[in-house]
Order: sequence, then C-alpha cells, then structure tokens
Amino acid sequence: MKTDTIAAIATALTPSGIGIIRISGQDAMDIIDRIYKSKNNDKLLSKVKSHTIHYGYIFDGEEMIDEVMVLIMRAPNSYTKEDTVEIDCHGGVFVMKRILETVLKHGARPAEPGEFTKRAFLNGRIDLSQAESVIDIINSKNEYALNSSLSQLKGSVKNDIIQNREKIIHEIAFIETALDDPEHISLDGFPEKLNNIVNGILDEITTLIKSADNGKIIKEGIKTAIVGKPNAGKSSLLNILVGEERAIVTDIEGTTRDTLEENINLNGISLNIIDTAGIRHTEDVVEKIGVDKAKDCIERADLVIYVIDSSKDLDGNDFAIIEQIKDKKAIVLLNKSDLSSKTGVEDVKKYINKPIILISAKEETGINDLENTIKNMFFNGEISFNDEVMITNVRHKNALIDAKESLELVVNSIQNGLPEDFFSIDLMNAYESLGTIIGEALEEDLVNEIFSKFCMGK
Ligand code: GDP
Repeated sequence: MKTDTIAAIATALTPSGIGIIRISGQDAMDIIDRIYKSKNNDKLLSKVKSHTIHYGYIFDGEEMIDEVMVLIMRAPNSYTKEDTVEIDCHGGVFVMKRILETVLKHGARPAEPGEFTKRAFLNGRIDLSQAESVIDIINSKNEYALNSSLSQLKGSVKNDIIQNREKIIHEIAFIETALDDPEHISLDGFPEKLNNIVNGILDEITTLIKSADNGKIIKEGIKTAIVGKPNAGKSSLLNILVGEERAIVTDIEGTTRDTLEENINLNGISLNIIDTAGIRHTEDVVEKIGVDKAKDCIERADLVIYVIDSSKDLDGNDFAIIEQIKDKKAIVLLNKSDLSSKTGVEDVKKYINKPIILISAKEETGINDLENTIKNMFFNGEISFNDEVMITNVRHKNALIDAKESLELVVNSIQNGLPEDFFSIDLMNAYESLGTIIGEALEEDLVNEIFSKFCMGK
C-alpha cells in the first residue's frame, strides 16, 4: 500500500539518556539518506541490510545536529510493517525536536497520535483490541497535551486563529446557501470579494508561520522569575543575560496585558523571564518591584532566581522572600560580590537550602556559574517545562502550513474561474487545519449558528 511517511519522537519527552525519533513509510529510507552522514561520509543507509544499526551524524544541510545511532528496519519486518528508521539521539528535548524538525523538513509529516499503531493495525501487524488499548493510552496523553498546549497558546494567536476560522466558515456558509438558493442569493462579484478576504487571511497565516519559528506562538521555556529587593541588581542581571552574545532575545507579550515575558536562550535552554516589565521599568516607574509583586511571580515560576545585595545585611523582606521560595526550584545569587560583603554564603545557608552563587552584575562575574547551574538542573530533570508543548508547536506549524496551502488553492481556483463549490472544499480544509490548533469542540455549534443566521433571511 502506498502511504505517506510519518515521523515522531517515540521516547518520553523528558531529559534522559537517549531519545528516539521514529520514521515510518515509503520515503523513510530516502529521508534518512538526505540527513545522515557516516563518519567517513561513505554510507547510504538506503543500501544497508535490514535490522542493522549505524553510527553517524544527523545534518540539516551543512549544520550538524547530533551524533546518533540509526536503526534500519525494512518492510514488512517492523512494527508498522513499513520501512522504518529509528534515530537514537541524545535525549535532550531540544535535540529531539531539532532532529524531528529536520526529518519533517526532508519529507515526512508529523505522525498523528497513535498513527504508528494505526498503521500496525491496518497492515495486519496487531489486532484491533491491541490497537485500541495502545490508542487509549495515547489519547489520554494527547488530551493532556492538547489541553496544556491550548493553555500555552498565546491569547492573541488563539484569537487570530478563531477569527480567521470564522471568516472562512462565513464564506463557506455563504457559498453553500447561495448554491442552495440561487433565486434569492446572488454570487455575482463574489469571487473578487472572496479573493480579497482569502488573501487577507493568507497574510495573517503567513505571519503566524513565521512566528512559530521563533517560538512566539507557544511560550516554550522554563518560566523563570528573577526576584529580590529593590536595588539588589535584578535588572542589571537581566540585562547581562539578555545581552549575552549567545543569548537570543525575543520579546513576547504576556498573556495578561501588563506583563511582558522575555525569552532568553541560554546555551540551548530556553527561559521565559516572567514579569520583566516589572523589572525593566523600575527606574522610570515609581513602583519598585516589591515583595508582594515577587510573591505572584514566584507562584507562577518553574524556576526562581533570587538576587540578594551581598553588600547589605539580610532583612525582613529577604526572610519573606526566602519563606516564599523554600518549596520552589530556586537559585540564590549573592550579587555585588565586587563590593565588601555583609552577607556571605554561610549567612544565607543558615536559612535556605538552595544553590548559592556569587556574582557581580557590574563586573559580569559568576554568570557562567549561573548558566551551568541552570543547565545542570534542567538536564538532571530538577526543572522542566511542559515538553509536550514543543511538539505541539511543530504540529501547529504544520497545521498552519496546511491551511495556507488550502487557501492558496482557493486563490488559484478563483483565478482560474472555477465554480464556487470548488472554493468551499479548500476553504473547508483550511478551516479544519486551523481547527486542529485550537481544538475543534466549538465547530459544530459555530457552523450551526452561522448557517442558522443565513437561513433566517430566507
Ligand atoms: P533592581 O532594582 O534589583 O533591578 O536593581 P538594579 O539592577 O537596578 O541595580 C541597582 C543598583 O545597583 C544600580 O545602581 C546598579 O548599577 C547597581 N548594581 C547592580 N549590580 C551590581 C554589582 O554587581 N556591583 C555593584 N557595585 N553595583 C551593582
């Protein structure tokens, strides 16, 4: 049977020793040939024997992504009974995601949840009850992933998608109603009007696709709060982190209007600094970030960076913050280590059992220690973020690309003067692709509502 080629991360998305990216389908071997190089670049995996494993590297064009072992299994001797390639890579979520993206770029599409199992069933590898039990597990996991990804989807992105879907369904409903009732509803001049509307939607979707690349659609990263008393050096620290040559900075509007999340990529680990608005504007706005404000940030954070001015003694405000972070993943920074110290490591240790690092934001010392500490916490699994979300981001991007392609077909049909019912097929495809991003629970209601609106005037 001729099928397209699917790919997914097959292992748990937690930091672990190895991760596996699985590719299944007729192009699996071609795809691996495009992205794999052996040590001496002298091997084509499409030519090797089935059930053999090969050491080498995954490349995206010129860029080497990871050192890997690749397992080759030819149809029908694989789980799906299709040609299957498994790439064993290093287990970091970033690496796994990068490799998956590379595989997708070179010809696979992301597997739907349960799709490998569905293929195993369709190809007669497992029976229905086996397939169902696997799919049940996957679905429950997927529901969780969908919920969490929905909750991570930026409000504005979600609204954009909802509004564009509404525009699309409105046009579909109009076409269908007009075709049903040509006596009362005329389609004269409609193609030109639709052309403008679809082009408008295409522009917006193109922007969303671009923003998917820099992580602006979904806030994927470790929610990090930088807290401490006024003048401890929070904004100086943030400026250093942001200004690091290796840091990539993007401003992300927060989900609430008054907060701004800043995304910092520290050596491959993505931090979303929450409430930087509160930190950044402390100089010009009268309000300094106080203990109350810190409390809110601490609650929302996966990781707290607590900055202490080591040239001063600890006081009641510090003890209040210490109390709030005692059950959180946190790192204590003794800042201003260039000045003579009033608060040392031992003084802090008495009150709190967290990593303590001496830094000077002024002289930019200790920053490497901070970065390494964060990195270690991440790779040891002490801090994490919702990694399902990253994959969903890849899926979302693909759904946007699908929607875009469908809308381009609508524009083509209009330009070629095709009949209106051609438009609605592709419009519906675009509508459905967008729906997979936001969850489709509302769809039927929305369709009913809109149809009922049209029909009332009849
Ligand atoms: P925030 O209120 O916690 O954001 O603190 P700021 O980052 O605005 O810093 C408060 C003051 O401390 C500023 O005048 C900084 O220049 C100064 N400062 C920050 N870090 C250091 C440091 O490591 N050493 C010294 N000597 N001064 C610092």
